[in-house]
Amino acid sequence: MTRTSVIQSGKPLASLSLDLDNEWAYLKTHEDPAWESYPSYLNVVVPRILHALECRSLRITVFVVGQDAALEHNHEALAQLARAGHEIGNHSLRHEPWLHLFSEQDLEQELAEAEQHIQVATGQKPIGFRGPGYSQSVTLLRVLARRGYAYDASSLPSFIGPIARAYYFATGQFSPEQRERLNRLFGSWKDGLRPLKPYRWHFDETSLLEMPVTTFPVFRIPIHLSYVMYLAGFSIALAHIYFNTALWACRLFGVEPSILLHPLDFLGGEDVPRLKFFPSMRMTGEQKIAIVERCLDSMVRLFDVRPVGEHAAVVATRSNLMDVRLND
Ligand SMILES: [Zn+2]
Repeated sequence: MTRTSVIQSGKPLASLSLDLDNEWAYLKTHEDPAWESYPSYLNVVVPRILHALECRSLRITVFVVGQDAALEHNHEALAQLARAGHEIGNHSLRHEPWLHLFSEQDLEQELAEAEQHIQVATGQKPIGFRGPGYSQSVTLLRVLARRGYAYDASSLPSFIGPIARAYYFATGQFSPEQRERLNRLFGSWKDGLRPLKPYRWHFDETSLLEMPVTTFPVFRIPIHLSYVMYLAGFSIALAHIYFNTALWACRLFGVEPSILLHPLDFLGGEDVPRLKFFPSMRMTGEQKIAIVERCLDSMVRLFDVRPVGEHAAVVATRSNLMDVRLND
């Protein structure tokens, strides 16, 4: 552990973020045409998220989808997040999980429009980006660096992507064309081999800091809260043992965890009936919030938890930061 990783609290650093995926974004990925009217649960879920964080004096990074920021009925919920001191990141304009297939010009436009809407709704210009479905490409990293981003947080070093893809295939009705497109979702096996700790991408004459979503050290299984929720569907006790073991493994291997939340960690099947196809939606909102809160307590006990931007700012000053060169 480096000296800079231990701040005044005496605990190692960690970060927490939330991808503010809205109801329509899930329906869209699930090829349900109901997404087209942009149904939103932000007014329900944002107060629940804010309450859980405020009780623990936590400030986190919320990655906002530009399309949500573009709609007036979401403005108050988004402004509440910003007013509570949370960092606002960019989670793309239209939540397309195939950003890695976009041209440079299309990416420029996608990011610029998202930034503009997010800035109007929250008063913050994002310095961090997370691609929907952990989508990433050299072109995307280049565009992010050019637009002045301090970090990207789209890497999920895990082999779970192809497994998630199999789940979507099993639960939806897809045409051969849709299957072809879905085949490129959720990353490749190669992504599973990327570093677990933060590192710096180098390309052209520039570079960009990568803050990966932490997975279980060595085993590389996801440890973010939606995975914990999935386990809780079988056994709540087991889910907590799993999460706590993962946090201790991070301490043991000197990994400062960057943990990820989603709105569905705070919503039950009764809150969003159209999303009942997710296994964790068999639980009620109340049950899920209790699980999230216990996990947050575990994190706070072991780590000094910050927004990703603050975590990135400390990491960027370290002389032992790993470099990864991109050539294509
Ligand atoms: Zn998302």
